[in-house]
Amino acid sequence: MPLIESYEAEAKSLTKKYYKNEIFVRALIEFSSYCRRKCFYCGLRSENKTAIRYRLTKSEILVLVNNAYQDGIRSIVLQSGEDVSFSSECLENIIKTIHDSYPDIAITLSIGQRDIKTNITLRNAGAERFLIKHESCNSTIYNRLHPDQNLSERLKAMERILKAGFILGSGFIVGLPSQTNNDILHEMYNLRKNKYDMFGIGVFMPTKNTPLENYPRGSIGLTYKSIILSRCFLPETLIPITTAFHSSSGKDMTIKAITNVANVFMVSYTTSRVKNSYQIYDNKKSLTLDESCKLIEKAGKLPTFTRGDPYHVNH
Ligand code: SF4
Repeated sequence: MPLIESYEAEAKSLTKKYYKNEIFVRALIEFSSYCRRKCFYCGLRSENKTAIRYRLTKSEILVLVNNAYQDGIRSIVLQSGEDVSFSSECLENIIKTIHDSYPDIAITLSIGQRDIKTNITLRNAGAERFLIKHESCNSTIYNRLHPDQNLSERLKAMERILKAGFILGSGFIVGLPSQTNNDILHEMYNLRKNKYDMFGIGVFMPTKNTPLENYPRGSIGLTYKSIILSRCFLPETLIPITTAFHSSSGKDMTIKAITNVANVFMVSYTTSRVKNSYQIYDNKKSLTLDESCKLIEKAGKLPTFTRGDPYHVNH
């Protein structure tokens, strides 16, 4: 049996051992497309003047949370660019209102880097989880692609999130320029060392009007192998099908990844008026809840609308 097929079989068995047949469905609410950062690969970078910018109001966000709640979903992800117009007080107010109105919803933030005081404020307001990818644990690659920051600052930001008491999710991108297979192996050791509770592996997508627009797309096959390896290196971690993977790999590959290894699927609840403006990369696809559930069922798995905690929380 080729080596990757052995890992694939092991990943499948580990996924079943820790998460049975369940795929946790999360409602993704992309509430602001403004960002102060300049990440070379991202369509929302501040220097991209062609990006369409929007901010949802608190009441618009609450309508979307309620839509997800009425659909039975008990896990939401509030995502934005690094938009400091949403101050600590403003985010605290939004999170507190959600938490008070729907105490059984698990709130995840994906809002970029904040100071420790803000992180603590948002944790106390009721948010429990934080997604912030390190994108590459190779400092040369990271520093080249992030002109306004460096890897050690990023890692410190992640430490601040943990110190504030959040459950932390991280991840990296396959196919960044000059990335080697050795770098990917380092990502796996990094995952095991840091025991991230969630680990999202995206595929590099060249995006118009960014400095990397003419670079080749990352390999879907290598991304799939990386997802398989990540389950084997840290079996208990939550592994999402990232929108980048789903958008570029197509339906069959997505089903294969759900069948064998993933256990989280994000469904966009962002207002249709602005949904297409959250273009972190070109041709981003999103499925409705119904389409997502059908895809999950086709993979022989069970769409699950609970909080979807990492394994160790309940064991
Ligand atoms: S990757 Fe995130 S932080 Fe970087 S430019 Fe895009 S939205 Fe901003």
